[in-house]
Amino acid sequence: ARHVYDFTEGGREMAGQLGGKGANLAEMTRMGLPVPPGLTITTEACRTFLATGEEPEGLSQEVARHLAVLEKASGRRLGQPNDPLLLSVRSGARFSMPGMMETILDIGLNDQSVGGLAKVSRQDRFAWDSYRRLVQMFGSTVMGVDGRLFEDALARLKESRHAPDDLHLDATDLAELVDTYQKLIRRETGEEFPQHPTEQLHRAIRAVFESWNGERARIYRLREHIPDDLGTAVNVQTMVFGNLGPDSGSGVAFTRDPATGRPGMYGDYLPNAQGEDVVAGIRNAVPLNELESLDPYSYRQLRDHLRTLEAHYRDLCDTEFTIERGKLWMLQTRIGKRTAEAAFTIAAELMDQDLITPDEALARVNGDGLARLMFPRFDTTAVGTPLARGIPASPGAAVGAAVFDSAEAVRRAAAGEKVVLVRQETAPQDLPGMVAAQAVLTSRGGKTSHAAVVARGMGKVCVCGAEELTVNPEARQFTANGTTVTEGSVISVDGSAGAVHLGALPLVDSAVMKHFEAAGRRPDEPAQQVVGAVDRMMTHADSVRRLGVRANADTPEDAARARRFGAEGIGLCRTEHMFLGERHHLVEAMILARTDTERDRALKALLPLQREDFVGILAAMDGLPVTIRLLDPPLHEFLPDRTELAVRIAAAEAHGDTPDAHDTALLAAVNRMHEENPMLGLRGVRLGLVVPGLVTMQVRAIAEAVAERRRADGDPHAEIMVPLVDTVEELRIVRAEVERVLAEVAEATGMPVDCPVGTMIELPRAALTAGRIAQEAAFFSFGTNDLTQTTWGFSRDDVEAAFFPAYLEQGIFKVSPFETIDREGVGRLVEIAVTEGRATRPDLKIGVCGEHGGDPESVHFFHGAGLDYVSCSPFRVPVARLEAGRAAR
Ligand code: ADP
Ligand code: MG
Ligand code: MG
Repeated sequence: ARHVYDFTEGGREMAGQLGGKGANLAEMTRMGLPVPPGLTITTEACRTFLATGEEPEGLSQEVARHLAVLEKASGRRLGQPNDPLLLSVRSGARFSMPGMMETILDIGLNDQSVGGLAKVSRQDRFAWDSYRRLVQMFGSTVMGVDGRLFEDALARLKESRHAPDDLHLDATDLAELVDTYQKLIRRETGEEFPQHPTEQLHRAIRAVFESWNGERARIYRLREHIPDDLGTAVNVQTMVFGNLGPDSGSGVAFTRDPATGRPGMYGDYLPNAQGEDVVAGIRNAVPLNELESLDPYSYRQLRDHLRTLEAHYRDLCDTEFTIERGKLWMLQTRIGKRTAEAAFTIAAELMDQDLITPDEALARVNGDGLARLMFPRFDTTAVGTPLARGIPASPGAAVGAAVFDSAEAVRRAAAGEKVVLVRQETAPQDLPGMVAAQAVLTSRGGKTSHAAVVARGMGKVCVCGAEELTVNPEARQFTANGTTVTEGSVISVDGSAGAVHLGALPLVDSAVMKHFEAAGRRPDEPAQQVVGAVDRMMTHADSVRRLGVRANADTPEDAARARRFGAEGIGLCRTEHMFLGERHHLVEAMILARTDTERDRALKALLPLQREDFVGILAAMDGLPVTIRLLDPPLHEFLPDRTELAVRIAAAEAHGDTPDAHDTALLAAVNRMHEENPMLGLRGVRLGLVVPGLVTMQVRAIAEAVAERRRADGDPHAEIMVPLVDTVEELRIVRAEVERVLAEVAEATGMPVDCPVGTMIELPRAALTAGRIAQEAAFFSFGTNDLTQTTWGFSRDDVEAAFFPAYLEQGIFKVSPFETIDREGVGRLVEIAVTEGRATRPDLKIGVCGEHGGDPESVHFFHGAGLDYVSCSPFRVPVARLEAGRAAR
């Protein structure tokens, strides 16, 4: 097989073989842009090398053949003493791993050719500067000498010459430095710096191969989910020189602003420098627009090339370039990374210009980015230097008083204060404090630490691993870069940027959120560009998606918001929230009833209240379906806490008083109903089957609400959903009662009140017997939270804090199955239920109402599984719409 391609032979489509850098260098060459000539050794050669420890057969001959072509074209030979051809040897994998692998410049210089280079360039200083760069890079990268030793030697030399930077060292100084470096190499390795150019080249190639398995590269791949077995290509390229004097230099340039997406060149330029100096920040680079006055000709050329690149790639490009004595060379390009704002802005603009199709535009944005754009942020004009930086573990902006333990967080929050919980790292016992806090800040731990996982699960702002913090819980303070922050001082945590600031930074509402709140109508104030972009992407997503998007909402307010956000109905209206608050004494009365009469009285009192709830929601969702779930949680959730009651009674007795009779009755009921495992106990449809009158009351309330809306000329579409069904028998019995009550209300009101009756599929048994369950169900709605709990045997309320961080760290799963659907297990049950349910009833309507309904990756799964809709929290509705559109492309 062939292992080497000239830049003139490859192209963008060959990124798998040539790596991203090599493929794009070839593409630019093909486009006629000025690229220094070169060749690329394939990733396959690297894979062979890594597997066998040997270069593949014939590689060096192949390299020699291609090198001869380069030499012929340039009229110089590699390392030729009087006028040497010099080469760079550059890594470049399939997926960009910026700065993670090695690159060696100026291959071909030695004690002789450095003189030749000085003579032809008429610049001694430049030649020695290039040579010392080679010895330094080769010494550390190829020969394994600790890079710091070279840096120390350079620093010592600068100090003794009183040179503020490397430009103040002259040729003699640099020649001395080369000597020092060579001695260093001899001392550290017992070996000479190799003088032979071909030996330099081949050892450099091997070193680049090996850098694939360097520690930096491995860690980067793990974090970015890049496979470990791809290998890197190696680019061998003719050197061009940005360090030839003031009319030379190097820089990086974007075709647009990667932060906002606005067109125009953005970047930095460093006069009289090689490219690696720009990235390393050795001297201060100047903004690219200053190049316009320094070298107007090159500036205009660069601008033209950037335009050409963007038009060709039809996307934001990021480039590296070098100017050698007024001649511009392009050294690299790739599709540039960008913020969410820029992603939407660029996609919409290129779509408007017909450069990309609407579907392509959709592919370039995503729901995570949209969700980020919906968070409030700190007013960027007010953001100064942070106190410290850490890992942006859970996005958003939060302001609060620093507190140092969970109890203090709970205490202050209960008093109405906003707090930020600051810990070295968090543990399960910090949970109450995390719930109470606006944000969590830790000095240790990464993206899968306890703090990060739990905070993300709660949608709480979190910055973790802020190593500049020294947290001292005993002294109730932390210090960061010389500043001490004591308990109660206000700090601002930026979970999107991964930074913490002293004081309260001003927050600004997200323009995108305001846009959705205005039901997608153009806001009055001049909208930010990104708002229009988001709007156009949403319009296209809506026009192509097959999945419907509904919301989980229990109140008229939530229902109205969901509708503004584009929900096409309610997929889950929980009735348990309607049992809380001041109604709890009615609920207690129902639970405590000793006789049918007592219970009937309590249910009768609840009935009008429930009916009013449903009337409000059906009005807010007029014309759209509202799936109402019958009562689901175990009844004791509505009773007071067992321990609290027992303590109250004991206290009364200790005082010699008779305990409150009501308390005693409550405690008896609580004890009677106590369950070791309430999530698997008396709840869901089981309640309806054992508590007389409960289903009747709820269905009557729904039916009467429907009748009332009809009478008011409304268009109500209530659907009745039975939770936690295991077997068709349960559903058959409950459904008969539902139909009976519906008929009764229709008769009494003279209004049609027919409501489809369906069930949740949230237990493995239900999924496995879905074919039979569908005989009694007009629709299915997957409750993927319970289905995940019961399929995995995970108690959601316990496992996330207890052992998920450990599981994530050990790679047992990459993401919590409560966050993204587990396709292999839970997803399989979903597929079985869809297939068998539809076999029984081809028109069976199927949705999902678990948390997963708003998770981008899960939405793609539900699309593929053939569901009719997803239902999620109102704030996730736009995300689900966008992802449903992306899934349908
Ligand atoms: P990375 O992948 O880490 O960005 P590169 O292969 O791009 O590494 O090389 C680092 C720097 O070396 C580049 O920024 C570029 O400026 C410089 N460089 C690489 N090849 C050449 C060359 N042929 N001529 C001049 N400079 C080069
Ligand atoms: Mg680069
Ligand atoms: Mg459930």
